[in-house]
Amino acid sequence: MIDSRKIKEILFSLGADLCGIASLDRFDDTPRGYHPLDVLPTCKSVVSFGCRFPVGTLICKSDIPYTRVRNSITSKLDAIALDFCIEMEKYQIVCIPIPTNESQWDNNTDRWRSIVSQKHMAQAAGLGTIGRHSLLITPEFGSMVWLGAVLCEQEFEPDKMKEPLCNNCNLCVEACPINALENPKIKQQACWEFAFGDDGEEKVWRIACHKCRDICPHNLGSENSILHQNR
Ligand code: SF4
Ligand code: SF4
Repeated sequence: MIDSRKIKEILFSLGADLCGIASLDRFDDTPRGYHPLDVLPTCKSVVSFGCRFPVGTLICKSDIPYTRVRNSITSKLDAIALDFCIEMEKYQIVCIPIPTNESQWDNNTDRWRSIVSQKHMAQAAGLGTIGRHSLLITPEFGSMVWLGAVLCEQEFEPDKMKEPLCNNCNLCVEACPINALENPKIKQQACWEFAFGDDGEEKVWRIACHKCRDICPHNLGSENSILHQNR
C-alpha cells in the first residue's frame, strides 16, 4: 500500500527538496485544454515537487552561471519525474511526467503554455503561492526553486494550500525595466524577448534579466539565509 507519506519519501530520495499533493478540485479555474484531465483523463492526483536553485547565482556579475544552472536543473527535474513514474509502476500505479520546461503557443490566450502549468500545480499542491511577479514563492526557498510534476491515476491525501506569501509591495513591478508587470498578468512575450536571447557580443544564449526575482523580499526563504548571513 502506498500513501502520501511514501510518495514524498520516494521523491525526496530521488533528489526533490519540496513535495506536495493536489486534488483535482483545485483546478476548476484552469484554462480549457490545460487541465490535468486534458492530459491524463484518468488522473486523480497531482504530485508537484521542487528542487532548490543556488542563490549565489542571484548576485553573480556574469549571466552564465544562472543560465547554466537553469538549463541543467530542468533536466534534473525531468529525470526525477521519470524515475518517480517508473518507481510508481512497481506499485501498479500509472503516472505520467509533465515536462519541466516545454511550452506551446496558445492562440486563445496569446501566450506560451506548458501542457499543465507547473506553477499552478505547485500552488495547488501547497508548495507555495504565485506572487505579483508571476513566480512561485515558497516559505523554504522563496522563489529560488524550480518545479516538476507528475499526474497520477491514484488518489492521495492532498496537502493544505498556503496562504498568499506575496504582500503586494510592488517592488518587482517597479524593478522591471520594460514594465512587463504593470498589469496583473505578466506580458510574457515582452519579458521573454527582453530577458532571454543571445549575448550581443559573444552570441551566447543566456538569461539576462531576473530583476523581479532579485528584488522580491521573499526571494530566498527560510532555508536560504546563507545569502543574508554572509554579507
Ligand atoms: S524577468 Fe526582467 S523583464 Fe521579465 S518580468 Fe522580470 S524584471 Fe521584467
Ligand atoms: S516583490 Fe513584492 S509584489 Fe513582487 S512578488 Fe515579491 S512581495 Fe509580491
